[in-house]
Amino acid sequence: MKKEEELKQILELSDQSKTATEIGAIVGLTKNAVMGRIYRHKVKNGYTPAATSRYAHMRKYRKNPGSVSMGISNCTICAKPYDLVSKYQRFCGSCRKEVNSKTSWIL
Ligand SMILES: [Zn+2]
Repeated sequence: MKKEEELKQILELSDQSKTATEIGAIVGLTKNAVMGRIYRHKVKNGYTPAATSRYAHMRKYRKNPGSVSMGISNCTICAKPYDLVSKYQRFCGSCRKEVNSKTSWIL
């Protein structure tokens, strides 16, 4: 793919200790675009910024609201009681895992 070739070229050039501006001029990107490609490549390969880094901030609000129990309900499959977290929930944790594994092809 074109993107992959571009990334390969960027990484090669950065190995030759070229600056992001120089690489950008060669590849046809801005300095910041080059920095972004390199950064995302690093993150993909397991790099995590230090917790004190200004790029590693805590998310202020949860992306998904946390699971707060709405009471106890009985599982539709095994009839075991479980913590009800959503009004659409019908199965206990272990049955849900099994159902999800069987129906994953739907999605
Ligand atoms: Zn169950």
